[in-house]
Amino acid sequence: MNNNIDQHIAERIDASDHFLLVSHIRPDADAAGSLLGLGLALEKQGKNVQMVLEDGADRFQYLPGSDRITSQPSGDVDMIIVLDCSDPDRVGGALTSYGQPHLVVDHHKTNLNFGEFNVVESKQVATAAILFDHMPAWGLSFSPDVAACLLSGIVGDTIGFRTPNVDSEVMRKAGALMDLGADLANIYRVELVMKPFTAICYWGAGLSRLEQNDGLVWTSLTLADREEIGYAGNDDADLVNVLSSVKEAEIALIFIEQPQNKVKVSWRARPGIDISGIAFDFGGGGHAAAAGADIEGTLEDVMKHVIIETRQLLDNH
Ligand code: 5GP
Ligand code: MN
Repeated sequence: MNNNIDQHIAERIDASDHFLLVSHIRPDADAAGSLLGLGLALEKQGKNVQMVLEDGADRFQYLPGSDRITSQPSGDVDMIIVLDCSDPDRVGGALTSYGQPHLVVDHHKTNLNFGEFNVVESKQVATAAILFDHMPAWGLSFSPDVAACLLSGIVGDTIGFRTPNVDSEVMRKAGALMDLGADLANIYRVELVMKPFTAICYWGAGLSRLEQNDGLVWTSLTLADREEIGYAGNDDADLVNVLSSVKEAEIALIFIEQPQNKVKVSWRARPGIDISGIAFDFGGGGHAAAAGADIEGTLEDVMKHVIIETRQLLDNH
């Protein structure tokens, strides 16, 4: 932890009144939990805080303060904080008229350090875990609501403490957040276990096209699937985690067709394989074990191209 940077950030926070906090498109629990955890703590200090997720926060209604999240910023702000984003494009259009962020807090190894201050710690399991370490030095405290938001980010990004980067330190942080009032069983259930009926039907559409080839397992989800089933999101409803549970899968991939000739690709790799580089080469980013990219092209072309490159990565491994 760099005390000097923490000191500068604390002073910047102290001197600012109007905050804009943003995180990434297709938000996950770490995006929403970090945004709300930091946002609610700043509000507790009497700050005026806008919390913005361009795609909204429908799936995160269980998080305290989620009704405070908006999809667009407005008005003047003194301090812009970007959470859980490795590059400015991941924010969507929310910062278009706002310029460079003052602070970027993130744990992606592909982070471009695009803030004035960058608290980027790629060994951390979640951006929420970084916030837990630094917020006291920034003069911010943990209410039970803040603790619930941060624990939700940690539970989400570790898929319930299952990823290989979970060590005893992470468990101690989770324990501390429980002591501060976070309800682990509830967070685990709502974040990881419960799925809407339409999400499971959507999985069915993807699973009906499941393929494998010598260590690669993949499938696709189409715009037509979403329309037919009435699944409201533009994501995979976490189906990629089901694919990565296939015993034979060294690398699991999912291709999610998007409007305007784009395809969202998610990669998941077994420990020892690093797929962050290939995601970065396709214009995305992420971690060794979990990465993604938004790629231009038809579903068919993107699948072909990405599978060839991923096959090569696995063969050279
Ligand atoms: P997912 O595949 O679940 O969307 O994301 C896996 C990891 O890769 C997450 O940490 C996520 O932030 C990152 N990621 C996913 N898509 C993109 C992308 O388009 N750009 C970048 N920079 N990172 C991504
Ligand atoms: Mn994260």
